[in-house]
Amino acid sequence: MKYYSTNLRSPEVSFPEALLKGIAPDGGLYLPVSIPVLSKAEIASLSGKAYYETAFCILSKLLVDEIDDDKLMSICRDAYNFDVPLEKITDNRYILRLDRGPTASFKDFAARMMSRLMQHYLSLSSRRLTILTATSGDTGSAVASAFYGLSNIDVIILYPEKEVTPIQRKQMTTLQGNIKVIAIDGKFDDCQRLVKQAFADRELSKLDLSSANSINIGRLLPQSVYYFYSYSQFAPESAKKVVFSVPSGNFGNLMGGIIAKSMGLPVVKFVVSTNENDEVPEFLKNGTYSPIEPSKNCISSAMNVGHPSNIARLVALYGGVMDEKGVIIKAPELVKLRNDLYAVSITDNETRETINEFYKSYIIFFEPHGAVAWRGIEKYLEHETACINKNIVYISLETAHPAKFAEEIIINTGTAPEYPDSLKDISEKKESYITMKNEYEHFREYLRK
Ligand SMILES: *Cc1c(COP(=O)(O)O)cnc(C)c1O
Repeated sequence: MKYYSTNLRSPEVSFPEALLKGIAPDGGLYLPVSIPVLSKAEIASLSGKAYYETAFCILSKLLVDEIDDDKLMSICRDAYNFDVPLEKITDNRYILRLDRGPTASFKDFAARMMSRLMQHYLSLSSRRLTILTATSGDTGSAVASAFYGLSNIDVIILYPEKEVTPIQRKQMTTLQGNIKVIAIDGKFDDCQRLVKQAFADRELSKLDLSSANSINIGRLLPQSVYYFYSYSQFAPESAKKVVFSVPSGNFGNLMGGIIAKSMGLPVVKFVVSTNENDEVPEFLKNGTYSPIEPSKNCISSAMNVGHPSNIARLVALYGGVMDEKGVIIKAPELVKLRNDLYAVSITDNETRETINEFYKSYIIFFEPHGAVAWRGIEKYLEHETACINKNIVYISLETAHPAKFAEEIIINTGTAPEYPDSLKDISEKKESYITMKNEYEHFREYLRK
C-alpha cells in the first residue's frame, strides 16, 4: 500500500518512508492511496477480542506486507497493556475512556505504537533519527513517555510556556535522557510553525529530522483501532450503528475515525466537537475556511488550535486539495462532508456547565475535553431529533484523565479527582528544560548545536 502527499507534488512512498519522514517533501501530509475494507464478518469477528488483538487485526490490514505478523503482534501486545473501558451512562449513551495509558491521555494510543514501529524500521538500517514535536500538552508527554530510553531516537519537544498544566509539563521534563524539552514564549501554533520551518530548512537537511505530531501518518493509523474496539463491545447480532463524538483540536483523532469508517465500520455520524476555536464548524457551514490567528485560549487547552494540521487530510479524503496555509485549491465535496460530520463549537461556559451537571447527575468527573464531546452529542440530538433511534449507540470519547485538569474540576464540582497511579509520584521528580524566544533563528541555532 502506497502513501501520497496531500499537496500532490511528491512521489508516492511506502509506509516506513512515510512514517520516518513525517511530512512529505512538498510540505503535504501522507495519506494511503487506498484504504482496505473489512467484510461484515471480519468486523463481527472482532467481538470478544482483547484491545491488543483488535489492534493487530486492524493494523495488519493497514500495514499489509510492511511488517511480519509476529513482530506486529508483539508490538501490539507491548504497546497496549492497559484498559480501554467503555462506560455505559444511559440506555444508549456511552463514554469511551482513552485515559488509562501511562500518561493518562488518548495520545498514548498513537505514540506507543508509532515509537515501536519507528524503532523497528530504524533498527533494520541502523539509522538514527531526531524527532521534533510541538505540543499543547498531551502530545509531548505521550511522546516523551513512548520514546523514552530508545537508543536510536532523540526527541525534542516544544511547548507553549504558559499553556500547559504543571502536571503536563512535569510529564515531559522529568524524563531527561534522550528527551529534550523547550518552553517557547508563544502559543501552540507558534511551536508548530517553528517545527515546520525546521523541516523545510535545507540547511538542516543533514540532521535526520522527523515528526511525532499528528502530521505523521504513524499517529493516525493506530487511532482507528479504538473505534472498532468500542463498536465490537456490542453483540454482533444486534446490528447496531454508531455515532461518535470526537473532541477535536488538530483533528488527528477524527482522522482515525474516518479511516475506521472507510474500512467499513458502520458510523452514522461523527460529531466533531471543538471548543471556541470554531474554524472547522464554520468551514462546514459556509464552505470557506479561515484559520483563527491567534487561537483562542479555552479551558480544553489541548484543543486550542486555530489551524488544525489535519484539515488538509480531511479535505483530501473528501476529494479536495488544501495547501498547508489553509488555502483551498480544489473544493472538497461539502455535501458528503456534512453528511458524515456534524461539527459543533462548544463555549467554555457550556463546558463548565457540562462538567458540573454531569457530576451532579452521575457522580462522574469529566475533564474539559471529554465535556466538550459530551455536550456535542447533546447538541447533535437537539438538532437531529429524528435520528434518535434504538439501533444507534452514541459514544463520546474521553481523551484525558480528570486528574490532569484537576483545577477546572475542583472549581466546577467542589471535589478533587483522584490521581491515577501513573501520575502520583511525578511531583517529586526533578525537572529539566530550557526556555526560548518565539523566533526561528534561536531554534535553528539550537538544532545546529
Ligand atoms: C490532543 C487532545 C485532543 C485533540 O485531539 P486531536 O487529535 O488533536 O483533534 C483532545 N483532548 C485531549 C485531552 C488531547 O490531548
